[in-house]
Amino acid sequence: MSLSFPVTPNPTPRTDAERATILENPGFGTNFTDHMAVATWTADQGWGDAGVVPYGPFSIDPASAVLHYAQEIFEGLKAYHHADGSVWLFRPDRNAARFARSAHRLALPELPAADFIGSIEALVAADRPWVPTREEQSLYLRPFMFASEVFLGVRPSAKVTYACIASPAGAYFSSGVKPVKIWITTSYSRSAPGGTGAAKCGGNYAASLIAQAEAAENGCDQVLFADAAEHTWLEELGGMNVYLVTADDQLLTPELSGTILEGVTRDSILVLAKEHGLTPVERKISIAEVLEGVQSGAVREVFACGTAAVMTPIAELKNAERAHRVGNGEAGEVTTALRSALLDIQYGRVEDSHGWLHRVS
Ligand SMILES: *Cc1c(COP(=O)(O)O)cnc(C)c1O
Repeated sequence: MSLSFPVTPNPTPRTDAERATILENPGFGTNFTDHMAVATWTADQGWGDAGVVPYGPFSIDPASAVLHYAQEIFEGLKAYHHADGSVWLFRPDRNAARFARSAHRLALPELPAADFIGSIEALVAADRPWVPTREEQSLYLRPFMFASEVFLGVRPSAKVTYACIASPAGAYFSSGVKPVKIWITTSYSRSAPGGTGAAKCGGNYAASLIAQAEAAENGCDQVLFADAAEHTWLEELGGMNVYLVTADDQLLTPELSGTILEGVTRDSILVLAKEHGLTPVERKISIAEVLEGVQSGAVREVFACGTAAVMTPIAELKNAERAHRVGNGEAGEVTTALRSALLDIQYGRVEDSHGWLHRVS
């Protein structure tokens, strides 16, 4: 039986004026709505204690397992306001399935897809006035799950906390769709064969922060990781998948090898590519091929993609030797067209011919 998420209203919600001020300039991930969805799991009882409750701090025992062994996973998706006043999620079944795969890898309990989506529906309904209505704004949803058993032994936690919080979002990178500079690190790896690279877990991000700092020291905005075994093959950014557009209209992206996160945006772009006269190709791509291609013009455009920032053009790829400018350093034609096509579907400006949208309000 699915969980139900009864609402305990926040007794002190933000006023209409406070909310309006936040929605004026929401930024990314700094403001949160008045409620959150929660549920707990125990080895004995399974899932229970579900509800939508006032947003607020958890009380965490210092011996909670997550604080020591990082048994934690998360998701990220958005609710989009359409012109007719309805609110929609984009392919939430994909996030639900990935959350279950991540849970499996981190030895956490799987939350059934119906409960994952149910928690989001209940939260969006409770915080409906927080869904931004302006162009390219959205309500970012962050479901997550962590080991909350009070126990220092090393084994899967017998108690787990699930929650979903919501944050009104403007552009993810403060520079908007401005093309970014990417640092190709050879000092650090994000993911290794048999590791957790295909799971959306906090630990992957913790391990990527030092590489991100290296990127910043080298004047770049984001870091690109190669494979851990050979430092030869293109993988992805710390939190976004990566694509190349070739001169002969192929749309290339690294194949899913178990070390790359299977992005919902990545998958959607593979589908949209065909409708834009491009040939989508998933295969192993060497960093050398990328840099030579950018140099010769065989690679016309490079972009990164993910729910938070949608699609970000890459203007420059830099490694220890030198910087390589991509195209003329501006957002490319294909990148711009695919980005619009995706946003048009998400914001209901064109027909949802793929059945990707899921109405929540
Ligand atoms: C979340 C994430 C992505 C993008 O996935 P989407 O489903 O498109 O948002 C890509 N790479 C990593 C490492 C991620 O954590």
